[in-house]
Amino acid sequence: MARTVQDYIRTIPDFPKPGIMFRDVTTLFADPRGFRMAIDQLLHPYAGLEIDKVVGLEARGFILGGAVAHQLSTGFVPVRKKGKLPGKTVEQGYQLEYGHAVMELHDDAIDAGERILVVDDLLATGGTAEAGIKLIERLGGVCIGCAFVIDLPDLGGRSRLEALGQQVHALCA
Ligand code: IMP
Repeated sequence: MARTVQDYIRTIPDFPKPGIMFRDVTTLFADPRGFRMAIDQLLHPYAGLEIDKVVGLEARGFILGGAVAHQLSTGFVPVRKKGKLPGKTVEQGYQLEYGHAVMELHDDAIDAGERILVVDDLLATGGTAEAGIKLIERLGGVCIGCAFVIDLPDLGGRSRLEALGQQVHALCA
């Protein structure tokens, strides 16, 4: 039987700490068929739509988002953890399970009115994606969708993003 995107993803127990089942997409990225399938399926709902830029969330969102941007012939913009971007930035804090983190976006990376697709590997609580969306909106961008390889629905990310009026697309759970 033909392999699905899910078949290329492995789960590593107790990483990065005991009790966590880490979804490892490096095995998906490493396989030529798996990687192409994931990119094709990620961008499928957006083909033909007007999109100006793809925003990738650090770090695996860069790999996926770069390939999606290339296929859609859009620009690519990284949202990075605080302290990594060299130019002037806007920043947005968000809650982690234990603690707090800050994401940044170059303040000239998106023009007002630009239509943006957000891409990352995995949606869990939705905190990372929400921070990215807020940064985009602070610059006047319009987030037209959020695409993920994996959605972990029990962690509430999809409903959190949908409550913000966002459209969520995910390839597997
Ligand atoms: P959230 O902010 O809780 O939705 O967590 C999503 C972010 O954490 C994404 O940027 C993911 O790359 C990362 N993440 C959380 N859990 C995993 C996992 O099991 N595998 C890969 N990335 C994960």
